[in-house]
Amino acid sequence: MLLDKKVALITGASRGIGKETAIQFAAAGATVVICAKEVEHLAETAEEIKKITGTEPFALGYDVSDSTNIKEAFSSFYSKHKRLDILVNNAGVLLDSLLGMATPEMVQKTFEINVFSVIFHMQYASRLMTRIKSGSIINISSIIGRFGNEGQVVYGASKAAVIGATLSAAKELAPLNIRANVIAPGFISTDMVKKLPKSKFDDRMESIKMGRIGTPEDVARAALFLGSDLSEYITGQIIGVDGAMVI
Ligand code: NAP
Repeated sequence: MLLDKKVALITGASRGIGKETAIQFAAAGATVVICAKEVEHLAETAEEIKKITGTEPFALGYDVSDSTNIKEAFSSFYSKHKRLDILVNNAGVLLDSLLGMATPEMVQKTFEINVFSVIFHMQYASRLMTRIKSGSIINISSIIGRFGNEGQVVYGASKAAVIGATLSAAKELAPLNIRANVIAPGFISTDMVKKLPKSKFDDRMESIKMGRIGTPEDVARAALFLGSDLSEYITGQIIGVDGAMVI
């Protein structure tokens, strides 16, 4: 099995891309540590993963925007599992706003969840990965972080920051045999995009040259590849999963 004996921490794993990644990782033999803010929903997801894969996830309910929570989460799962092989920084929020309407609170919240949390998770993860002299960090950005979009200055800035942080971490951690890569999804069918007004939804659909919306499975399979030893010589890369939305 691709992830046999590996321990993987996946943030934002109660639904959408994170949940599917947890399912595919567990099915590939990994012990999965799943995180989300809403504890009850996370517990339901943990039950679902157990039913589908026959493995028991370690569920940790915490808000990733608080660095103290992150520190406590790491010590909690490390005391049980004693290693970390894969980190998937997936938790994220999308607060759309035209530039003129963006508020300081919106910028603060977006950056706390989408950027600061990624940096602190990478910091704690790399310390644990150094002990086993290997590891794979997978950060979920977005095509918006590379190419921008109207009404998404704040979100786009946060997702561009994820790319910058990952590329720097990849250079710093390569001598320690720890890899760091970015997945940049396009338009994926999850709760995040279901809130979009119909006109925007249709516009995005029209831009997908493969003619269909992406699925959480599409993104999770890329994460599975990057988490596994199949990609052991790949680091500092940005893998688009967007059905040719942008080429
Ligand atoms: P989603 O369905 O809205 O799920 C978001 C996940 O993040 C949930 O599990 C949520 O848990 C968690 N989360 C949000 N804020 C959190 C916080 N403060 N602390 C802990 N967990 C938190 O989103 P998705 O579409 O799967 O997106 C996953 C990632 O892919 C995000 O980083 C997103 O920016 C990126 N992405 C998505 C698309 C797309 O088209 N869907 C495209 C490009 C990039 P709670 O409900 O408990 O808060």
